[in-house]
Amino acid sequence: MARVTSVWYRGGYKLRVGFDDDTATDTDLEGRLGQDFEALIDVHLFSQVHVDEGQGTIAWPDGSAIDAEWLKTHGHPAGRRYSFAGIDVVCPHCHHHYFQLKESQLSTPVLKMFDVGTMGKSASVLACTNCSHISWFSGNPDTK
Ligand SMILES: [Zn+2]
Repeated sequence: MARVTSVWYRGGYKLRVGFDDDTATDTDLEGRLGQDFEALIDVHLFSQVHVDEGQGTIAWPDGSAIDAEWLKTHGHPAGRRYSFAGIDVVCPHCHHHYFQLKESQLSTPVLKMFDVGTMGKSASVLACTNCSHISWFSGNPDTK
């Protein structure tokens, strides 16, 4: 059973939600706030979303809440957390924690440019899902 660990308000009725399995999803609730969530159509109230740590959900000051499983199922994947050398990766540009991982083959000119003959011929490329900054690592991320 997934639990919410973080939430970011991203304008309009858009949210990015982080879960305890280190993944994140993006959800746009525009036009999807039915009777049960009528009060949240007020964007000012909607923007006051927060994590209810006791319930593992997102919640609002009026008592509305949406559970983690729904957000995980209906949201669009927005990357996950990674760590290298035992340290969580944080975007150096925007300090976000969620990335898309791509593996890239390093060409010989690139290897020469960085004088990294000793490292492998492939690299892990992490693209920040918030600002698109790209971070390169010559190894593979830690597995948990
Ligand atoms: Zn970023």
